[in-house]
Amino acid sequence: MNPKEIIERCNDMIKRLAHEAYSEQNPEAVKDINALDEVIEIVEMREPLKPMQPEVDIDGSIVNPCGYCGGELQIIHDYCPWCGQKIDWSKNGD
Ligand SMILES: [Zn+2]
Repeated sequence: MNPKEIIERCNDMIKRLAHEAYSEQNPEAVKDINALDEVIEIVEMREPLKPMQPEVDIDGSIVNPCGYCGGELQIIHDYCPWCGQKIDWSKNGD
């Protein structure tokens, strides 16, 4: 199962749990939803993301914004120091 599929399944489970959690006010279902939200966040972070299009800073230096949070990345970073996103620095293809 790839990360996209995991996230889709988690979102489906959240939808199924929503009625039980909020209409029936079942605290266990609320906990399940919170846990699934965490899983989605972790899976998103683990999947390498390419940086956004490089920008030229006011001082003329090149800035590579994180593809997830937009924070400034250095080429030495395997992970964004701001949000923890894994960075894919490869140039070609997807
Ligand atoms: Zn980031």
